[in-house]
Amino acid sequence: SLLHHSQFFTTVNHFKDLPTANFPEVAFAGRSNAGKSSAINVLCNQKRLAFSSNTPGRTQHINYFTVGRREETYGYLVDLPGYGYAQTPRDVKDHWNRLLSQYLEEHSQIKGLVLMLDIRRGFTDLDRQMVSWFAPLAKPIHVLLTKSDKVTRNIAHQTLFKVKAELKDMAGDWGTAQLFSSSNRVGLEEATEVISNWIMS
Ligand code: GDP
Repeated sequence: SLLHHSQFFTTVNHFKDLPTANFPEVAFAGRSNAGKSSAINVLCNQKRLAFSSNTPGRTQHINYFTVGRREETYGYLVDLPGYGYAQTPRDVKDHWNRLLSQYLEEHSQIKGLVLMLDIRRGFTDLDRQMVSWFAPLAKPIHVLLTKSDKVTRNIAHQTLFKVKAELKDMAGDWGTAQLFSSSNRVGLEEATEVISNWIMS
């Protein structure tokens, strides 16, 4: 897959430091522990490209990975800091909110948002806030319902149906959703195709 040669590129803490190269970007977002790093690692077929955002403090920055090799880059995967970690200090949260909303609203290279939702939790208010920042850009939002191996087939499909309906309310036809599991690779092909198409379009 196009994503298999991804490499770490850079870490960004301030809006002014975002890469200026005009490569297409695909942003990854989700609550801490939603399974974002596991998803990125599986999509890129690597063990430790992205690190878990469980540890507060190390997570308030944006990590860039190249799509394609560093010397032959097609685009960037942009790993946004996991949100919703209860113990995050107020000022860190404020910094993060500013960085994130600025990134989403002013970084025109973004082709789409991959939003990770733990299938056992579905949409939370913070996820809705993320969608509400992104939806005005009129760009696609693709939801991965992660850890789908943790629920029965029935629950998985019920949740998918519900999430799709909610996404439709918030983002109209820009929103799509699918089941995903990093553990048993459910939905890997579908997600890879969506992301590769965004990068190459
Ligand atoms: P992040 O904080 O969003 O980057 O989440 P991680 O990728 O670090 O995952 C959080 C926890 O969920 C870890 O313990 C993972 O092993 C677990 N996890 C992630 N993806 C899956 C999955 O598809 N299935 C199962 N069963 N566990 C998962």
